[in-house]
Amino acid sequence: MEKFFFEVIVVGSGLSAKTTIISLFKKGIIPFWIENIQNYKIKDDRTTMLSPKSFKMFQELGLKDFEKKSFPTKKINIKTQNQKNFTVFEGKKFLPICYLTENNVLHQELDTLISKIEKNKKLVKVQDEIRSIKSDSDNNEIVLKSGDKIYSSLVIGVDGANSKIRKIQNIKTKDHGIKKFGLVAIMEHEASHPNVSWQVFSETGILALLAKDIKPNKRAVSSLIWSLDNKQIDAIRNLPSKDFEKKVKEEFGSSLGDLHLISKINEWPIFRIDVPNPTGKRTVLLGDAAHSIYPLAGQGFNLAIGDISQITDTMLWAKERGLDLGSSVVLNKYVNNRKFWVNSVSKMTDSIDWFFSNASNNSQNTFGSLLSISNNFQPIKHKLVEIMKEN
Ligand SMILES: Cc1cc2nc3c(=O)[nH]c(=O)nc-3n(C[C@H](O)[C@H](O)[C@H](O)COP(=O)(O)OP(=O)(O)OC[C@H]3O[C@@H](n4cnc5c(N)ncnc54)[C@H](O)[C@@H]3O)c2cc1C
Repeated sequence: MEKFFFEVIVVGSGLSAKTTIISLFKKGIIPFWIENIQNYKIKDDRTTMLSPKSFKMFQELGLKDFEKKSFPTKKINIKTQNQKNFTVFEGKKFLPICYLTENNVLHQELDTLISKIEKNKKLVKVQDEIRSIKSDSDNNEIVLKSGDKIYSSLVIGVDGANSKIRKIQNIKTKDHGIKKFGLVAIMEHEASHPNVSWQVFSETGILALLAKDIKPNKRAVSSLIWSLDNKQIDAIRNLPSKDFEKKVKEEFGSSLGDLHLISKINEWPIFRIDVPNPTGKRTVLLGDAAHSIYPLAGQGFNLAIGDISQITDTMLWAKERGLDLGSSVVLNKYVNNRKFWVNSVSKMTDSIDWFFSNASNNSQNTFGSLLSISNNFQPIKHKLVEIMKEN
């Protein structure tokens, strides 16, 4: 049995884990990477709305073709189902509010960068699983399924909503136990509104059509994401294409003309998990392992990007001072800088979800009226857009 020491170990194979590795590497911290054995290279057909801040981070990390393959949204039109007109949210000077990217494209771009790091023989990775972690004042002793033992100052768990690291390290978790799904598909539509995304809130769920490209035949393409609960999805998931298109139009209205499905319909489980303190002994959790929120405001991965940027800064700060990267002083500094924003975004998305799942029709109409009124108050709308862009 061999024995290895690494200052930092990153566990996970999703977008957050890959971004963490590149971000740390760019700042001179070379982690050891434990990828998941089971679902390596699962196809992720979702799209993600990136805030300008997250988008900039990917540009700075050196994702070369990423910019060309992303689709900016300059306006978001929002309404409740009973509202007649959409309320328009746009940034100042028509700058993009967010950028749509395909998760598979992002995975490819991150993989390309990571393989360059591997070629320089700077990154060591294994496809294995952690069996146990024993943490003491000096380091973590990690035993892998293969039987290998590794030692590290710090473990970064980026292994998703059902994080095994969180369980092994007994990190307190509140799982809200919700049973919702995000239904995703790509749709082509008659009316073309370049760089405009749409969102409709209704009793049936929250439906978004996010601006993608315009095809050579002048047909516009949007990415659909429809948040539905258990019962609602049963009635929709197996509809034939034509009925599905009709159902989307009923829900969305006619602003985009006829809608045609041009992909398979897939569904992704939605988790709602809070981790009040995402650190344990010589361990920190990032991304969905630390907070799984409703996707209705497109903020989950943007929160992960914020985590990654903060942990990278904290690691640099600790290194400059010669501190132990897994010590509680360092981990507390990370948590103190992060918890307010993570809490605020989680609560904001909970409130929106609660409102549309529970509030009476009357209250929802009131919300619709408030949205319409805010149409006349540009400063309020600009402020809201700035908050959205801040994440
Ligand atoms: C339908 C839908 C739409 C969304 N849209 C948006 C959006 O527009 N904007 C946005 O910001 N967010 C969005 N989100 C949220 C976003 O997708 C997630 O926040 C993001 O994917 C989390 O990435 P992650 O890497 O932290 O977790 P995951 O993607 O869950 O990745 C975790 C990884 O860890 C691996 N793993 C698990 N266990 C182990 C183990 N024991 N050892 C090693 N590896 C392990 C898994 O294989 C997996 O690859 C959406 C979510 C859904 C469901």
